Amino acid sequence: MQHIINRFISYVTIDTESDPNSETTPSTKKQWDLANKLVEELKTIGLSDVSIDENAYIMATLPSNVSHDVPVIGFVSHFDTSPDFTGANVKPQIINDYDGKDIVLNAEENIILSPDYFDDLLLYKGQTLITTDGTTLLGADDKAGITEIVTAMEYLINHPEIKHGTIKIGFTPDEEIGRGAHKFDVEKFGADWAYTMDGSQVGELEYENFNAAGAKVKVKGKIVHPGYAKGKMINSMYYASEFINILPRLETPECTEGYEGFFHLHNIEGDVEETTLEYIIRDHDKDKFEARKALLEKVVFDLNTKYESEVFKIEIKDQYFNMKEKVEPVMHIVDIAEEAMKAVGVTPLIKAIRGGTDGSQLSYMGLPCPNIFAGGHNFHGRYEYVPVESMQKAVEVICKIAELTAIEK
Ligand SMILES: [Zn+2]
Repeated sequence: MQHIINRFISYVTIDTESDPNSETTPSTKKQWDLANKLVEELKTIGLSDVSIDENAYIMATLPSNVSHDVPVIGFVSHFDTSPDFTGANVKPQIINDYDGKDIVLNAEENIILSPDYFDDLLLYKGQTLITTDGTTLLGADDKAGITEIVTAMEYLINHPEIKHGTIKIGFTPDEEIGRGAHKFDVEKFGADWAYTMDGSQVGELEYENFNAAGAKVKVKGKIVHPGYAKGKMINSMYYASEFINILPRLETPECTEGYEGFFHLHNIEGDVEETTLEYIIRDHDKDKFEARKALLEKVVFDLNTKYESEVFKIEIKDQYFNMKEKVEPVMHIVDIAEEAMKAVGVTPLIKAIRGGTDGSQLSYMGLPCPNIFAGGHNFHGRYEYVPVESMQKAVEVICKIAELTAIEK
């Protein structure tokens, strides 16, 4: 156990926060610090073809140890951490044999990780937890995934009696700012399919995510001196609020869950002359997703007709799509992961992601890529933690997937 803890800590104590305002890849120079270390480590444990490109995408190969043909599979995770909360000077704390009570992360600032609020903690009574000291995030998202993949490869190298095909591993920068997949060289990677190790609770297995689009609605008004405005002024803010109120109030993030889609108004900027509304649109179902976009267009059309002028303009841009469409035709890749979990005593929790993953983009780039748990909880903040046992289970799942894929049929 100490081995995997040490490895994890050696990663999280290197700051790799990404930056959405940067145009470079990786978005921050400091991501190279961990990237370069990982390259050395992958060579040291004995992987082949270890490479890092000019954008810090890392790839490596574990060659097949069987003579028959086996599909090439891959495991992918990201080494950046979220810009939502600081990842500098992470001081991990180890809680041995967790007793199910409050964990004092920081006595000075009275920061408590409590099962009263985070009841998932109770799943891990008796286990070893790694937490923050309350002042930073932990970076289990997704350095737990990296730890697991490296540890699994090391295990397979040290246990040649476990038969497996060719395994590719890929580590990316900038996932947290939505740019983890876009410079991923799928052809060079050369896998038939892959898994991102980037989920949360032990057992999670995900191959459905949102279809996603963004919409910008511009409302044009007319400014006139308020004292002489009768019949002349058009206050774009009132028109904008009319638009907002036509959309279904209950189809918003705060009123939906599971497979329910939504419109999310996330920004308003305006004055009398012009108001801009920014929405994101989300739905797992392709037809409902299209219907949501069509509804926005229709509201714009109807309001423009009502006011007999082009007061409203809308621009809608697709962002990413549900990977289900790309994974369902190769459903055995989910079945293998599910079987692997059961074989190592993990109960699979198959559910739809209310968001996107690098895997959804990779799936549309030709690499079908479901998502598997990495074990952490409360990502992107000071309450982030990971049970070491969950990381160990993830290592076992990776090895078992490799083994099951290589069984001759
Ligand atoms: Zn992640």
